[in-house]
Amino acid sequence: MNDCIFCKIAKGEIPSATLYEDEEFRVILDQGPATKGHALILPKAHYQNLYELPDELAGRAMILAKKIITEMKDVLDCDGYNVVQNNGSAAGQTVFHFHMHLIPRKEGDKAGISWTPGTLTPEDKEEILSKFSLK
Ligand code: AMP
Ligand code: ZN
Repeated sequence: MNDCIFCKIAKGEIPSATLYEDEEFRVILDQGPATKGHALILPKAHYQNLYELPDELAGRAMILAKKIITEMKDVLDCDGYNVVQNNGSAAGQTVFHFHMHLIPRKEGDKAGISWTPGTLTPEDKEEILSKFSLK
């Protein structure tokens, strides 16, 4: 992926504010943070999204997320963390190289990572449960 910005950042070809690096991942500070300390986990290998990510790598990405937010919670003295991961432009993905957002939260901050709850109707419930079966 010659023109992927996150490939270049993850491989160190473009400088970044790197919090952590190992053979598989680089963790950087987001350049447009939702809150102070907003970080991104980037695999060094290019996968567009979670659908494409190999299972083992997906597992290790989540374990790394746990380590980083556990350490950073003390560094930033924050009250909580959102772990956000967007797949597809409809879901807000703008960079098509898999990444996980780690967003520190403080009580009363205005980060606005929320939605208006709707209603689970009986029709929706029946339709979805009847169509879905995990193989
Ligand atoms: P998403 O909308 O889930 O694809 O998130 C993309 C994120 O990447 C946004 O939060 C951007 O602020 C961030 N971003 C884009 N380019 C860079 C960059 N060069 N360095 C750091 N963060 C970036
Ligand atoms: Zn890439």
